[in-house]
Amino acid sequence: MSETKEGLDLLAAETLRSRYLREGEEDWKDVCERVAKAVATTTEEYTEFFNLMNSKVFLPSSPTLMNAGTASGQLSACFVIPVEDSIEEIFDSVKTAALIQKTGGGTGFNFSKIRPDGSPSASGTGTASGPVALMGLFNQATEIVKQFGRRRGANMGILDISHNDIIPFIRAKRTEGILSNFNISVMIPDAFMSLADEGRMNEIWNSKTGAKVGEIFSEVVDGIWKNGEPGVLFYNRINRDNFTPSLGDIHATNPCGEEPLLPFESCNLGSINLSLFVEDGKINWDSLRETVGKAVRFLDNEIDVNVYPVPKIGEATRKTRKIGLGVMGFHDMLLKLGLPYNSTEALKLAEKLMGQINWAAVRESRKLAAEKGSFPEHENSIWKLPMRNATLTAIAPTGTISILAGCSAGIEPVFSWVYRRTRTVEKEFMLVHPLFEAHFKPKLSESDYSWLLEHVYTHGTLKDIKNSKVVSGEEKRLFRSALDISWKTHIDIQAAFQRHCHAGISKTINMPANTKKEDIEKALIYAWKQGLKGLTIYRTGSRQHVVLSLKKSQ
Ligand code: ADP
Repeated sequence: MSETKEGLDLLAAETLRSRYLREGEEDWKDVCERVAKAVATTTEEYTEFFNLMNSKVFLPSSPTLMNAGTASGQLSACFVIPVEDSIEEIFDSVKTAALIQKTGGGTGFNFSKIRPDGSPSASGTGTASGPVALMGLFNQATEIVKQFGRRRGANMGILDISHNDIIPFIRAKRTEGILSNFNISVMIPDAFMSLADEGRMNEIWNSKTGAKVGEIFSEVVDGIWKNGEPGVLFYNRINRDNFTPSLGDIHATNPCGEEPLLPFESCNLGSINLSLFVEDGKINWDSLRETVGKAVRFLDNEIDVNVYPVPKIGEATRKTRKIGLGVMGFHDMLLKLGLPYNSTEALKLAEKLMGQINWAAVRESRKLAAEKGSFPEHENSIWKLPMRNATLTAIAPTGTISILAGCSAGIEPVFSWVYRRTRTVEKEFMLVHPLFEAHFKPKLSESDYSWLLEHVYTHGTLKDIKNSKVVSGEEKRLFRSALDISWKTHIDIQAAFQRHCHAGISKTINMPANTKKEDIEKALIYAWKQGLKGLTIYRTGSRQHVVLSLKKSQ
């Protein structure tokens, strides 16, 4: 176990070595050179892209870092594959998913076209197994493919709330370890949420099964309370942001939910490290907007050099040229500005940041359209002016790239200032947040500082510390971490970013262990009203295997 800043550096180095270095590469610079060379079309672009990555101001997502400039050449993190209701088509989808996962991409599916468990089969000789059993097949395929890649495969399994098998689907992952290569989400239309909001729990929702609104809603809530699944996706909200409605409705997202996509579309992600834009306590907005422009160019270039797992994916992706530019290090930025995560200023800043980023991204996409042409389906889109990309912004979890960048993940609050991390590279690390260390270590005696570390490592919070000589009231306000922040604030921050984001946002709404089911109900309704496209709630302690945790005795 290692502590402090060196611990973080060690974790980044281990992650780099175990996942990203290719043959002959020794350090981060080598990775940046390979990727910049593969993605740039001019020497000028090469230098720009190299500097963006080498300074960790912007990082493309893992598949790009792993595969650019290699024999694989597959750069996208997100894919959506349709699943049709025939054996032939189902196995086609399994095959496509396997080919994607071999290259480190994540796949999302909506299984709602699959006829329910026990329905007559097409040949009339037996009965269908239904979506839940089918997911087992996809899960198994992922299990086998993962042995060849550098990380576990990831799937998103979605079922519409109107499907007859919705209750077995919601319960499908209740035993930990089952369908472990899947996240599951229920796709919910406004009509259902309105009934739940109005308390009309006795209305029949599904006339075939007789299931009432209240029954289904409490299954969702129970599942979340028990172990954080299913996630929830809001169908109408997602489709209000369908930038190419004449190409069809959107029914699915990638594994972590940040990219609602049409069938066979893929998307390249990249994230800007916000924390690095604070200079002398102020945000350098010009530099941020300029970086956005370069990042858009980077991700747009990727579409042309990408090696697509199957031709259909290449075709669908080139038609709309969607890219997913997002952020990481939001909480670190707030700390550097002296703003608590749950403050009005943080909310305002969230909205302004994403507004600026989205605006600068659109501006760059217009420039690119003037240079290279609009995306081919532009005429079938809602964009009036020329655009190179149908959508530009999405906020990914940045689970691994934020480790490389050494910043807080996505728009998440820091989990705890002192915590244990396991699994990422098969080792255990006790880590202290560098900004926490920089703040407290110099001003406290050695014994007070060790006491503080131990306290936070055990309890995950500063708020119960009585000794104001160690931690002042103001410091308690500033250093609030995930569990000190109410679910409402978590949702408000997500909603603020969502208002200026074309695609979606991956974020976990943390709730304490003693959360009541009513709070989960309220949170779902509140999130829907705030305009989130989806959400994931996690109640502390409700899963055995977690990546981040406090001291083991807890
Ligand atoms: P990273 O930090 O490694 O770039 P993120 O945590 O931001 O990745 O995840 C971005 C997206 O990448 C996910 O939403 C998912 O589509 C895909 N992804 C993440 N983890 C995996 C995985 N283990 N296997 C396949 N795809 C993944």
